[in-house]
Amino acid sequence: MPPHVPAHATWCTPTLRVAAHRLRVDLPFTIPVPTASAVGHRVGLGLDWGVNTLLTGTVARLTDPLDGHAGGRVVSDGRMLRYDASAISAKLHRLRAHRERLAAKRDHYAALLPGLRTPHPQWADLHNRHARAAIEHDRVCARIRRLNHALAWSAARWAVDQAIATGAGVIYLEDLATLQARGHRKGNARLSGQVRGLVVAAIRHLAAKAGIAVVTVSARGTSKYCPRCGTGTSALQHVAAPDRPNRAGWKWARCTCGLSADRDWAAAERIVARGLLGQAHTRTDPATGHRTITVVVEGNVSRARRPRAEARRVRRANRTGRDTFTRPDRAGSTPGKGRPTPKRPAHQSHRPCPPPA
Ligand SMILES: [Zn+2]
Repeated sequence: MPPHVPAHATWCTPTLRVAAHRLRVDLPFTIPVPTASAVGHRVGLGLDWGVNTLLTGTVARLTDPLDGHAGGRVVSDGRMLRYDASAISAKLHRLRAHRERLAAKRDHYAALLPGLRTPHPQWADLHNRHARAAIEHDRVCARIRRLNHALAWSAARWAVDQAIATGAGVIYLEDLATLQARGHRKGNARLSGQVRGLVVAAIRHLAAKAGIAVVTVSARGTSKYCPRCGTGTSALQHVAAPDRPNRAGWKWARCTCGLSADRDWAAAERIVARGLLGQAHTRTDPATGHRTITVVVEGNVSRARRPRAEARRVRRANRTGRDTFTRPDRAGSTPGKGRPTPKRPAHQSHRPCPPPA
């Protein structure tokens, strides 16, 4: 058995199939996973379906309830996690355009064919062209399908790895059913809702294996209000870029309280706040087992700096037991990195002028 199959796996009925003239055996197996608790989480990962990127996330934790505050405060350390798929998205866009062209070509040949009789000298040629266009169209469709699938699983792997690395016990996502079309249909907004559905299914699968709960929250108004000050009081201003505050756009969010942040990131902070504060309202669908929070509990997200990482020199000293690194052959000499800093070459033009003709 391959090494990735755990010893306690239960085998299911195998399937035989023919792929590329070879016989393949699909041998599915199941492993029991503990059901992750939907409530009682202190650290959560909020993910936003981005306008700028496929997924933008932020980690937030719930502080202990203070006197007077029922559920505590949501505090984020300001890390921005983003899964940028612009290259794959552009590739998918080109493939979709190619698919449309091939479909138009195929339909055009199909419309011409009935006009010609079989003995006509051009009939065979036209028939071949039609068949070739149809085959090419099918192949491009299959390529798009495979690319969507690979993209979805890659994004889900990324998301679950972020949750594991940051110690989050729950992933909050926007409910696709309540997601409104927002921003311009440009950039990654091209990524279809179908890909998002695949990503959600893949995240659920991978998170279950890692013991992390996946809960969807309502997507309404997540990018409309400020995550710092506006609990539905003042709408965020969306501009083109941080250095162009007067130009209308959708990528950057600004607030009168001084917030200036990536739009998707601000939305992710609101999503994680809705999730962590609304845990008591979590509902589980009895048919699918999917968790969702339909009640919107708004709350602001404070920013707290995470503890400063130890300097590299201190970490190295802890590891090696020596204060500074000294090369063995230079033991006793001045401590340092052990070699002189190389001189930078004098500035040279990378593109010399062509010799005069
Ligand atoms: Zn604000």
